[in-house]
Amino acid sequence: MERPNAWKTYHKTEMKKVEALAETYKEFLNQGKTERECVLYTVNKLEKAGYTSLEDAIDKKKKLKAGDKIYLNQMGKAIVAFHIGKKPLECGMNIVGAHIDSPRIDLKQNPFYEDTDFAMADTHYYGGIKKYQWVARQLALHGVVVKKDGTNVMICIGEKDTDPVFGVTDLLIHLSKEQAEKKLGEAITGENLDIMLGGKPLTGEDKEPVKAQLLKILKDEYQIDEEDMLSAEIEAVPAEKARDFGLDRSMIMGYGHDDRSCAFAELEALLGIREIPEYTCCGMLVDKEEIGSVGATGMQAKYMENAVAEIANLMGNYSELTVRRTLKNSRMLSCDVSAGYDPLYGSAFEKKNAAYLGRGVCYNKFTGVRGKGGSNDANAEFIGKIRKIMDDNKVCWQTAELGRVDLGGGGTIAYICALYGMEVIDSGVAVLNMHAPMEIISKADLYEAVKAYKAFMLNA
Ligand code: MN
Ligand code: MN
Repeated sequence: MERPNAWKTYHKTEMKKVEALAETYKEFLNQGKTERECVLYTVNKLEKAGYTSLEDAIDKKKKLKAGDKIYLNQMGKAIVAFHIGKKPLECGMNIVGAHIDSPRIDLKQNPFYEDTDFAMADTHYYGGIKKYQWVARQLALHGVVVKKDGTNVMICIGEKDTDPVFGVTDLLIHLSKEQAEKKLGEAITGENLDIMLGGKPLTGEDKEPVKAQLLKILKDEYQIDEEDMLSAEIEAVPAEKARDFGLDRSMIMGYGHDDRSCAFAELEALLGIREIPEYTCCGMLVDKEEIGSVGATGMQAKYMENAVAEIANLMGNYSELTVRRTLKNSRMLSCDVSAGYDPLYGSAFEKKNAAYLGRGVCYNKFTGVRGKGGSNDANAEFIGKIRKIMDDNKVCWQTAELGRVDLGGGGTIAYICALYGMEVIDSGVAVLNMHAPMEIISKADLYEAVKAYKAFMLNA
C-alpha cells in the first residue's frame, strides 16, 4: 500500500503554484520566528481578508451571521479565527489547529553576568532540544521587554545582515577528550547553554565593565534597564533565513517548520475560503504545545471554548447547551508535523508506516509513547470520512506513525480537543531534523497540506 509521490502528479501550472506557495512560506518563517511574531503576521493577513476582532464585536454588540469572519487574539501569542457558516453553530465546526511555538533558548529573568571579560546571558531552553545542536552557531534575539509603566519594547537583533549575532560557544576539538567520552545527551548541559553577548569593557568602569558596556547599549538603544529584564520574554533562535534545500530546490530548510509549516498551511487554507462555508470553519494557532499546551495561551486554556460562547451569544443563540453541542459535534484536524523517514536513520522507523517527504500531507491515527500512551487515537469512522474527502479533492496524502514501536514518542494538541467529544485526527507535514535549529520539509507536502486543510474545512 505504498502512497504515490506528489511531485509525479504535478504539471507545469501546478509546479508554479507549489513554488509560489513556498516563497510565501519562507517569508512567513523569516517574519515569524516567535509565537508573538506569528500572531502579528496572522492578524495582518486576517484583517486584510475581512476578519475583525472578537473583542470589538463584543464591545459593539455586533450581530453575527453566516459569512462573518471573526478572530480572537489571545494575549498576542495565540489566535482563533472563525468563518461563520450557513448551518447552525450546534451542527459543529470544522476546526484546524496548529501550534506556533517552536523549540528555542529563552533568556532567564535575571540573565546578565560577566565572566573573564565576557558579558553573558543565562538561559533556560524551551521545548525538547538536542543541546549539542545549539552550540557554535549564529543566534538572533527576539522578544519583548515590558516596562513597569506597561510600555513594550520589541527586540529583534540578528536578522538584518548588518546586525550582530550571538551564540553559545563550544569547546575546541583539541581539548575535547573528556567531553567526547560523555553520552550525546550529557556532553552539553542545559545550564551551560549560556549566550555570549559581548567582550568590550566600558571605559572608566571598574566593577564588571563588560557587563556595564552591555547595559549601557541596552539603555542607549532600547531604553531598557537591567531590572526590566524581570518582565521580559527574550528568545534566542537561529539567525539564518529559510532557504531552498537540494539542487532541485524541492525542499526548504528553515527554523520552526514544527509547527509553522502546518500553521501556515492552515492560515492559507482559511484565507482561501472565499464562499460562505456550510459549517463554521475555525482555524487555531496556539502556543505552548512544545511544553505541554499549558498556560493561558496553550491549548489547555479555554479561550477557544470561550470564543465559541461569545460567538453563540452574538448570534443570539447562547446557552451552555449550544456551546457544548457546538464543540461535541465539531470535527478537527490537529495539524502538527510528522517525523519524515530519514535514510540515514532507517532503523528508527518501520518503513510501511513511516511518513515520506514528498508523498503529501500525513495523517497520524495516533501518537503517544509506549503503547500509544497519552495519544488521541482517532476513530476509524472518522478516518474513513477523511479518506473520502482527500480522494474526492485530489489531495496527495499518506498515513504514518511516529517511528518504531517503543523507540520514543510524542504528543500534540489532539487529545485536548478530543476532551469535548469531537472527532479529532492528527494531520501534518513530514519533517527531517525535527526540533533541530534547522529543519527540512518538502515543498510538495506543504502544498498538499493547504489543499487538505481547505478540503477538510469545506467538506467535513
Ligand atoms: Mn509540533
Ligand atoms: Mn515539536
